[in-house]
Amino acid sequence: MAFNHLSEYAQLMKYDYQEREVAQQPDREFVYGTGKISAYASVLLGCLSLISVFAYLYPSYLTTTDMRAVYDGEQLQIILKYGMWSALFFGVVAFVSNGSKKLALIGLSTTILAFALGGYTIEVSPVEPKNLAIGVDWLALSLLGHVVFFTSLEKIFPKYRDQVILRKEWKLDLVYFAINHLLITTFILLGNYAIHRLQWAMSLPLQEYIQSLPFFVQFIIAVLIADFVFYWQHRVFHKVKILWPFHAVHHSVETMDWLAGSRAHIVHSIIERVAVVIGLHLIGVEKAVLDAYIIFAAIQSITNHCNLGIPWGPIKYILVTPQFHHWHHSSERPALDTNFGAHTTIFDRMFGSYHFPEGHWPAHYGTTKRLPRTFFSQLAHPFNADGYDLKPRQVKKEKLVKISFYIHNAKKEGKTAAQISGALTLMGWPADAIDQAFEFASKNKPAA
Ligand SMILES: [Zn+2]
Ligand SMILES: [Zn+2]
Repeated sequence: MAFNHLSEYAQLMKYDYQEREVAQQPDREFVYGTGKISAYASVLLGCLSLISVFAYLYPSYLTTTDMRAVYDGEQLQIILKYGMWSALFFGVVAFVSNGSKKLALIGLSTTILAFALGGYTIEVSPVEPKNLAIGVDWLALSLLGHVVFFTSLEKIFPKYRDQVILRKEWKLDLVYFAINHLLITTFILLGNYAIHRLQWAMSLPLQEYIQSLPFFVQFIIAVLIADFVFYWQHRVFHKVKILWPFHAVHHSVETMDWLAGSRAHIVHSIIERVAVVIGLHLIGVEKAVLDAYIIFAAIQSITNHCNLGIPWGPIKYILVTPQFHHWHHSSERPALDTNFGAHTTIFDRMFGSYHFPEGHWPAHYGTTKRLPRTFFSQLAHPFNADGYDLKPRQVKKEKLVKISFYIHNAKKEGKTAAQISGALTLMGWPADAIDQAFEFASKNKPAA
C-alpha cells in the first residue's frame, strides 16, 4: 500500500470509498429447522402477551389516553388470544426441537402466567385517565408491528444480506425502543405544556390561513417546517460542545437496522420532539394533518436506519432515504457533520451540509471516539466531567500492521505526519484508528 510516486498520493486526495465488510455470523443467524426461530418467537409473543395482560388489568396506569382513542380494546383481545396460543405453540416446538430450552421455557412460562392472570378473557374495564400513565399498550402493539413489518422488509430487500437480525447490541437498542415507547405520555405531556406556554406567540390570522389550505398543501408545509426545525436543532447538537455528548448516543450505533434508530439519549429525544411539536403548532396545521405528519415522520425515521437496499430512484434526491441517513451515521471524515435533515435533503443542500456520494455507502458507522456500551453508562455519559476523553475503539492488530507499514513507507518518502494522516483519512480510516496506527508505527519499526 506504499506510494511510489507523488501522483499516487495525489490520486488518494480523491476520497477512496471502501465497501463495508459484513462478516458472516453463523452462530447469530436464524436457521430454519433448528428451533431457534420458534424459541425467539415464543419469547417475544410470551413477553408481549404478559405485558398486554397487565395493561388490561391496570389500564389507568399502563395504557395511553391518546392510543386508546385509536384502538378497540375488545378487538385487540382477539390478537392477544392468537398471540398467546402462538407463544405456547412456538414454545413447545422450540422445546422439543432442541432449539434453546432456556428461551423456550421463558416463552412458555410468561405465556402460562399471562393465562393464569386472566389472559384474553379479562373484561375491558373503564379507565380513570392518569396524566402520566406508562405506555405499555403502545410498546406491545408497536414492537409487534415493527418486528413483523421491518424485519420482513430488511430480509426481502437487504443492503447487507449477511447482516444478522440478532447483531451486536440488539438488546441495548431494544431497551431504548422500550423506554421510548413507555415514556410516550411524558413526551405528549411535555409537548402540550410547551404549546400551552407559547400561546402568546401564535398568530390567529396565520393559523386561519394555513387551515384554509388543502390537506395536501398543509401536509407539505408541515413536513418542511418540521424538517427545518429538526435540521437546526440537530446541527446545534452536533456543533455545540456540551450538547454533542447527548446526541453522540444516537451516533454510537455501529450496525444500522430498524432497531438502531431507537438509540437516543432521553434528554435529546425530548428536546427534539418538543422543538418539532412547537414548530408545527405555531403554524397551526389542522389536527388531521398533524396526525398524518406523525405517521409519516415515524415511518421515515425508522426506514432511514434500516438495512435496506431498495433503489429509490429520483426520490432519494428530495427525501431522506436510508443511504442518505446512513452517511449521517458514518465515522468517515468526509461524512462527519453532514446530512442533518430528517425528511428532505433540501436544507442540507441549502446550508452546505449535503454529503451523498453517488453509488457509495459508508464502510464504518459510529462515533470517532467510542462511547460506553450500556444503557446506564450512556445515560450518564453527557454528565461525566471528562466526557470527551473516551476510550478509543480497539483496531485489529493486522489492520494496525497494514497501516503502520504504509506510514513507514510514506515517511521514507519524506511525507509529513499531517500529510500521512490526511491520506489515511481519505482512504477511509476513522480518526481513532489513525491515531492508534501512528502509535503502533512508532513502537514497531520495520527491520531495515
Ligand atoms: Zn446526528
Ligand atoms: Zn439516525
